[in-house]
Amino acid sequence: MTGLHAIKKEIVEIGRRIYNRGYAAANDGNISVRLDSERIVITPTGVSKGFMDPDSMVICSLEGKSLTRNACPSSEIKMHLTVYANRPEIQSVVHAHPPYATAFGITGIPLTQAMLPEVIMTLGGIPLVEYGTPGTDALSRPLIPYIKDHDAFLMQNHGALTIGNDLSTAYYRMETLEHFAHIAFISHLLGKIHTLPGPEVSKLLDIRRKQGGTGVFHPTACNSAAADACAILETGETVVESAITGASGPKPQEISEHFIAELVRKLLRELS
Ligand SMILES: [Zn+2]
Repeated sequence: MTGLHAIKKEIVEIGRRIYNRGYAAANDGNISVRLDSERIVITPTGVSKGFMDPDSMVICSLEGKSLTRNACPSSEIKMHLTVYANRPEIQSVVHAHPPYATAFGITGIPLTQAMLPEVIMTLGGIPLVEYGTPGTDALSRPLIPYIKDHDAFLMQNHGALTIGNDLSTAYYRMETLEHFAHIAFISHLLGKIHTLPGPEVSKLLDIRRKQGGTGVFHPTACNSAAADACAILETGETVVESAITGASGPKPQEISEHFIAELVRKLLRELS
């Protein structure tokens, strides 16, 4: 395994990127890495992610007990521990409040439109997880039904969570998620959105599966020619199913692109 100090330094570097990109203000956000079968290392509470010191990182048991003297882990550690308990292969968890993704979480608009092939291959589906009070069990409990099948999560009225087999993967998934949210926002402003047709989505999900990705993806608002043929990837197997009747997992809102574009234009008119 990479040395502990090197891991702590990598967390500091990722924290700096999160802060510099505006994904977290003040002391927001938290990052952790699994060290072995019994311990994780996590960012301390009350510290800006842009100005961390490797020596301030906190080692904790998988029950959340601090093993570092006089150090207090992030108040959102339970969210990290819930991921590690439910996904043994996951080695890192990144949580931040990137503005565009967070805005989608606040407005309740799911990022489930099949717009960009790279996003489908990299992230699969992005569920919108129900709100829970930060720092309590209520924050991590709503994640549980989604953890096994997803690598990126929008948290209602809060932020985003990404996970990976190493720290850089977990972080890059956060970048991809926010980049996607930004593009989706601009696309909604510009007007009618052309989503990828169902058969194309199926091909992308096949590629993702071959690369070891798991997950469930319920695309919403596919273009009309393919509205009844959206793909769902179920742990290793691609199933074509109706986007409207897609049964398991989060219930995606049926959002009309036209409605959103009109709404944004109206808001911009009122603000100008
Ligand atoms: Zn948070």
